[in-house]
Amino acid sequence: MNYWNTRLREMTEYIPGEQPQDIDEYIKLNTNENSFPPSKQVLEAIKEAANDKVKLYPDPKSTRLRELFAEQNSLNADNIFVGNGSDEIFTLLFRGFIEHNGTAAFTYPSYSLYYTMSEAYGINFDKINAEKDFSIDLQKFSGKNYNLVIISNPNNPTGTGFDINDIRKFLKTYKGLLVVDEAYVDFYGETAIALVKEFDNIIITRSFSKSYSLAGLRIGLAVSNPEIINGFFKLKDSYNVNRISEAGAIAALKDIKNFKYNIQMLINNKEYLEEQLYELGFEIVPSKANFLFVKHSAIQAENIYNKLKNRKILVRYFQGPVQSEYLRITVGTMMEIKKLIQELASITEA
Ligand code: PMP
Repeated sequence: MNYWNTRLREMTEYIPGEQPQDIDEYIKLNTNENSFPPSKQVLEAIKEAANDKVKLYPDPKSTRLRELFAEQNSLNADNIFVGNGSDEIFTLLFRGFIEHNGTAAFTYPSYSLYYTMSEAYGINFDKINAEKDFSIDLQKFSGKNYNLVIISNPNNPTGTGFDINDIRKFLKTYKGLLVVDEAYVDFYGETAIALVKEFDNIIITRSFSKSYSLAGLRIGLAVSNPEIINGFFKLKDSYNVNRISEAGAIAALKDIKNFKYNIQMLINNKEYLEEQLYELGFEIVPSKANFLFVKHSAIQAENIYNKLKNRKILVRYFQGPVQSEYLRITVGTMMEIKKLIQELASITEA
């Protein structure tokens, strides 16, 4: 590793959920994608955009998508930045917003990319541990003068959430940058977007990978005041969002009927999955997202994960304190859930 710098050598690698090559052989409930496909209209918009114009660079600012999202959310286009997935937005935050001797804080457990990116850019961070029920008092972030706090609302992997009034209360005294990662907000949560008009130090991030069934297109948004949004534009790669992805995301935002139907189906399926898991002896953390964080009363999580994998069902197992006692299971289609429950019944009976 002669050509790696010290930071690269020492940083912990982000481990994404498995994406097997023979994907059609698996039931995939490990990366919180949407098990339902995008609508016909969205797929058609994507196909239509795959034309000879791909010889040209895309709009460097994804103007049409920003204008549409702004219109739907009573904002202006200059409140919105479009990223190559919300992951790109986190990268940019660490690349250019925080001084390299600054300190960040994130909850634990949470989306581990925050820790990885912090390490990659040499920014020190504290992990604020959740309580036994996975709730977190935001005032715990008031102890030090953190330059950056990221909370995931609802939180991955626990599915728990923060109250918007608690976020507002926190912002009244906090002077650093607060990022509220709303990748899963569409499933049950309440958005903190209104706070963008009240405070100049909040950024909301959104993802098209979950509720819009477009993980493969890589589209994420940052919503904030124009000054912060300009910072993202200054920092980003020249053409960070491609033509085809922008066209798909625009069609997805327009297709409100399918979006709502899709969300309702997932909520119904989640309730069914919860009932079935309770019957099999699982403890379930109340979830506001499209996944459940669960633990069995008698069998170790890693053991269940391996047995399911042998049966071609992927769920997520994380190493690390507390979270290694749990499995994270993405809510799938009814067929996927029934197969999962059938296999879990045979594992727990054995
Ligand atoms: N935030 C959270 C909390 C997530 O779980 C994920 C997906 N793993 C992301 C952001 C990344 O989303 P995107 O696909 O938009 O990069």
